[in-house]
Order: sequence, then C-alpha cells, then structure tokens
Amino acid sequence: MTVVTRFAPSPTGRLHVGNIRTALHNWMWAKKHGGHFLLRIDDTDLARSTEENVEAIRADLAWLGLHPDGEARQSERFALYEARFEALRAAGRVYACYETAEELDLRRKILLGRGLPPVYERPAPGTPVPEGRNPHWRFRLDHDAPIVWDDLIRGPQRFDSKLLSDPVIRRADGSWLYMLPSAIDDLDMGVTHVVRGEDHVSNTATQIQMFAAMGGTAPAFVHEALLTGSEGKLSKRLGSLGVDHFREIGIEPVTLVAKLARIGTSDPVEAVTDPQPLIDAFDFGHFGRAPARFDEAELLQLNARIVHQLDFDAVADRLPAGMDQAAWDAIRPNLETVAQVVDWWSVVEGPIARPDLSDEDRAYIAEAATVAESLDWSVDPWHALTAALKEKTGRKGKPLFLPLRQALTGRDHGPDMAALLPLIGKAQALERLG
Ligand code: GLU
Repeated sequence: MTVVTRFAPSPTGRLHVGNIRTALHNWMWAKKHGGHFLLRIDDTDLARSTEENVEAIRADLAWLGLHPDGEARQSERFALYEARFEALRAAGRVYACYETAEELDLRRKILLGRGLPPVYERPAPGTPVPEGRNPHWRFRLDHDAPIVWDDLIRGPQRFDSKLLSDPVIRRADGSWLYMLPSAIDDLDMGVTHVVRGEDHVSNTATQIQMFAAMGGTAPAFVHEALLTGSEGKLSKRLGSLGVDHFREIGIEPVTLVAKLARIGTSDPVEAVTDPQPLIDAFDFGHFGRAPARFDEAELLQLNARIVHQLDFDAVADRLPAGMDQAAWDAIRPNLETVAQVVDWWSVVEGPIARPDLSDEDRAYIAEAATVAESLDWSVDPWHALTAALKEKTGRKGKPLFLPLRQALTGRDHGPDMAALLPLIGKAQALERLG
C-alpha cells in the first residue's frame, strides 16, 4: 500500500503556525513511508478564496522545503461532486431541507431549554414543502451504525450517530460546504491517512459514514492536539503567525521544521539541519493528547543553535559580497540569525567606532601596534600578538585581551579574535591600533 497524505488548506487566508505543523506532519508521514504528499486547495468557497492566498500557500510550503508530489483544486472538481451527490441522493442518503437559519436556531434553543442535545430533527415524512424556497441539502446519517475508528493519536473513538446532526453539505445556491467534497476527494485520491487538527474530530465521525455510503473504505485518521501559546492558552496570536513573520525575525525553515516536528511529542526538540532523522523517528504514537505549547523564545534559541551549524553553501547566497567560508565559520558562532552576519561583517570591513580607552590602555594599544607591525601574519596572528604582548607587558586575562578587542573591533564582545583577526587583515588592524 502506498501511503498518501494530503494537506488541504482553504485559501481564505495565509497559513499560520498551526496549519504549517499539520502540513509538516503530513509531509513527514508520506516521506517516512516513501509515499505521496498531496496539496489540495480546498477552494469550494469561491467568494472567500483568493488566488493570492493560493500562491502564498505554495510559496510558504516551498520555503519550508515541503514539496508536494501533486496538487489538486476543489474548484476544478465540481463535476465529480455533482455526480457523487446525485448518486447519494438517489440512494436516499442526501435529502432536501427547507428550514431557515432562524427556524433552526429557534429549534436548537427549544431543545437546549429542555435539556436535550441540540440535534437536528429530520422533518416527518409528508411535511409540506414551503413554496418559493430553494432547498439546502443534508447527508442522512445511518442511526443504526455506531461510528468507530482507531485514531493514531487519540486511540479508539466511538460516536453515537443518533447524537449527531445530519450535516448540511450543500447550500441553497448550490455551493458546497467542506464536508462532502473532502470525503469524495480523500476517496478519489486514494488518501490513506488524514492528518489534521482535533477540531475536526466530529467531522470525521460524519465523514466516516460518507465513505461507507459511497462504497469506499475510510482512510486512517490522525487528530492532533492543537497548539497553544507560551502562556498555555489557545492564543489568538498563534493564528496570525505565519511564514512571513518567522522569516522576518530570522527563523530558518529548518528551525521551524525541527521545532514543529517534535512539539507535542515525547521526543526532545533537537537542533538538526537535516529533516531526515526527524522523518525516520516520526511516529504518531509519540504524540500526546494535551495541547502542544509553542514558545517563540524557545524557537529563537533553537534557531541560534541551528544557525551555528549551517554550512557556508547553505547560506552563501544570503551573505554580504566578499564573505568566504573562513569568514562565515568565524562569525557563525556569534549569530542568532543569519541576517546578523551583516553587522559582524561591517566590523571586519570597517569603519568601526574608536573605543574610549584609558591613558594606560592607549599606551598598551600603541605597544600592540608596534608588535603587530613586525609579526608574521601568515599563521595565527592573534596568538602571536597576544603571546608577545603578554611577555612584554606582563598583562594577562581581561586586561590583555579586552583593550585589543575593543581597538580592533570597536566592541566588547564578538567572534573569536583568532578567527576574526586574519579577516580584518594586517593593514586594517594596524590602522585600528594606530
Ligand atoms: N480545508 C479544511 C481546513 O482547512 C481541511 C480539513 C481537512 O484536513 O480535512 O480545515
């Protein structure tokens, strides 16, 4: 059996961290099993879907490195939905309804007032059809069949179909609601695993009956606990955090992958730049049912650990002109984001601010200039310089190193001077010490 997963966003907005995570897990599961990962654009809501969002979704997935093995759009599949709808209608599993939203609301309130579950009551046979009203359509649940599935995260699930309302699947204007087209596509596309948020659990219950009504086998279902913000609550902010935001604050795509692959699981979040080990170890059995906590401060820390490992080749096109492998290797351990490299490169290239040194340190730096002048700069000038100065001045530790760093870089902290000094070079170093 070839594993087929799908990520099915509605292009009514941009992807946020929650659905990025869903996309990632679908991709990982397919990769782990040598299967197919499909992108399905759920654009049945033509009024709220935009082409701009479709393109942004594609671009976001590409940035993350989640390349779909195929793409489909629901708006191009209406003929199939129509055919399946007609078949279900002929089989008595789809029926016309005429209630207005107000009538339905009133009925709900009455049921709730009586302490009863607000389940839709089917009209009694022979109920007259109101004139001049176009029907909307519901799927008739089979009340005799208990709904069960073995969720790969939530374990055995059981729903009493009598406690579920027959879902509306089509509006009076002929437009489709999410439920039926999704089940039709999952069947038609041979989807083997539906991986989505636990907000879809009750949809799954009704869709399981749709699969059966269409004569198909339901895929396996995986419902993930939702993400919460760092304060542990379902946060509104998470819903607005998308790829643009992460890119803006300097998060690497591999950082998001490393983080989102593991939060909510019993596996530790690891600073890995290659997703393969994450894919190999990926297992829905490791996911808990408690909400997964997404903490942006932790993400930034992980990002720094990942940036420290990025190879020159992986970042070369984002580095300032003139920076080579040695420069990247020297500066990399000081970065939290790749973008910060620009600042350190300006320290190498200059000009730098002259430090405010005491008279004593100024004399020391003048001495350093003389020593630096006569050094052999071809091997490790920093150690040669500091060894000679230690010998000459008797300074050691901070008084030996700090004024040099300040004079040579204009800063109190920064990359390892042994790596930085050859980049600054003899001529420029002498100028800064002079
Ligand atoms: N378009 C649906 C959504 O974005 C898809 C849910 C599903 O994965 O079936 O919620």
